[in-house]
Amino acid sequence: MAEKSSRVIVNGLLTVIKVEHLSSNFIRIYFSCDKSLQINPLWVGPHLKLIFADPITKAITFPGFDEKGKLLLTENVRKLARTYSIRKYDEVTNQLVIDFAIHAKGIAILWAQSAKESDQIGLFGMGSKTVFENSYLVLIGDIAAVPAICYSLENLPDNQKASAFIEVKHQSDVMPLPNNDNVEINWLIANSLQPNQLIDSVIAANLPTHDDLLFWGGMESSLAQQLRHAIKDKYSDLNADAVQIISYWREGFAEGEFRHRE
Ligand SMILES: Cc1cc2nc3c(=O)[nH]c(=O)nc-3n(C[C@H](O)[C@H](O)[C@H](O)COP(=O)(O)OP(=O)(O)OC[C@H]3O[C@@H](n4cnc5c(N)ncnc54)[C@H](O)[C@@H]3O)c2cc1C
Repeated sequence: MAEKSSRVIVNGLLTVIKVEHLSSNFIRIYFSCDKSLQINPLWVGPHLKLIFADPITKAITFPGFDEKGKLLLTENVRKLARTYSIRKYDEVTNQLVIDFAIHAKGIAILWAQSAKESDQIGLFGMGSKTVFENSYLVLIGDIAAVPAICYSLENLPDNQKASAFIEVKHQSDVMPLPNNDNVEINWLIANSLQPNQLIDSVIAANLPTHDDLLFWGGMESSLAQQLRHAIKDKYSDLNADAVQIISYWREGFAEGEFRHRE
């Protein structure tokens, strides 16, 4: 069915080529990668496991894996590892693009805000738990999932139909996407008078069939919890693995201090 867990160990170095400020809420960083990335073209929202330099020693230390490929998550790794999405990858030049949504604090965003040409970070792994298949894909996200959703829409197989519901902070965060008859895109701008608009629009949408839906999403943890419940209430016959709503971040907690699937 939809969930085919897949993780690839990379242990490569990413070197900054260029930094672009896309809007007041997004920094785009272009990297060259010293390894060639084997990205499964069927992955929905493929993610990258990044490792940042130790702030004191300035060393980038790659984490270990056990014999089953499971990450050995020491406290040091947890503190310096962060998950981001592939925004673009060029397999000819090994150039990779990551879009960082700006927030107040955190090792990743502080690094991105001061990044300059030739700065480096580590890339220890990548993967996705969800693949495109013939089911109707419903992509849902807040600003942190814009890169994953844009990538997935740009790489949609010809036979795949999808709807996307994306909430950003400002009109200038809306990204240009190719016109595609198989896709319906709903951009929402955050509005304090309508704090539940993302969930409300997903639930109000007239989605084509009920049997064959796959909901994929990335967003703040409490929003993710509410959305999982709302989807399961409306679509009570869905298999558990047809709802892949990931907690991308959690208010007040750094990555590693909460679980992505709760
Ligand atoms: C599979 C996956 C893919 C992801 N892809 C992307 C991506 O492509 N681009 C992207 O920008 N993010 C992405 N994220 C989210 C990103 O991993 C988190 O935002 C991460 O916490 C950022 O690390 P940090 O070191 O800046 O902040 P942390 O040290 O983890 O957190 C510090 C503080 O900042 C807050 N915080 C963290 N993220 C946000 C946020 N987005 N908005 C507001 N406050 C926040 C936390 O609540 C905490 O209080 C992804 C997450 C997952 C699980």
